[in-house]
Amino acid sequence: MVVRQLIARGLTDRRTLAAMASVPRHLFVPPSLMSAAYDDSPLPVGQSQTISQPYIVALMTSALAPRRTARVLEIGTGSGYQTAVLAYIVQRVYSIERLPALAESAWDRLRQLGCDNVEIHVGDGTLGWPDAAPFDGILVTAAAPEIPAPLVEQLALGGRIAVPVGDRVLQELIVGVKRASGLETRRAGPCRFVPLIGRFAFPEGP
Ligand code: SAM
Repeated sequence: MVVRQLIARGLTDRRTLAAMASVPRHLFVPPSLMSAAYDDSPLPVGQSQTISQPYIVALMTSALAPRRTARVLEIGTGSGYQTAVLAYIVQRVYSIERLPALAESAWDRLRQLGCDNVEIHVGDGTLGWPDAAPFDGILVTAAAPEIPAPLVEQLALGGRIAVPVGDRVLQELIVGVKRASGLETRRAGPCRFVPLIGRFAFPEGP
């Protein structure tokens, strides 16, 4: 997976590649899909949600240029796979999931794997986690119509944020760096995520 799907597509961040090589992705998918866990695609994880394609997980992780000392906020815990990849690299990961059943099973998995530098909160991630802010990095792993303003507020100066921005079907990955003058953004390619449902994103429903 790392050689064929990540390095071959130009990803070079050493910490991200080491994390992707170490975190057992097959433990984050339903048992019936274990044989497809390392395929080049997203997979269903229940509750109409998905675990993202390995390349997208690595692309978003490396977009944060993560350092060992970083504190990172993730919105959309899902299976907990992206959380585990981040937890392998950084000091502390704060992850928010709106669906309690997913948050609970992700928590169990992460505990079993010994990820003790993770906190999970059930709620609307578009509001961020003000008590733990500012963050050195913020990853949103669901599609938003725009970057939720509370998340930009909770990003440290020099911190990076990655968000799939677009409609409910197709998005572009936007990567931003917070400067004193505002958020400097670049486009990092097309992507397809399930919608971010919340006060600063899409309303619930179709
Ligand atoms: N990072 C996950 C993984 O590695 O398995 C994949 C995330 S999945 C593509 C998107 C997740 O975002 C879903 O679990 C969904 O319930 C969650 N979500 C959607 N809106 C949310 C919100 N406002 N706050 C927190 N989580 C949200």
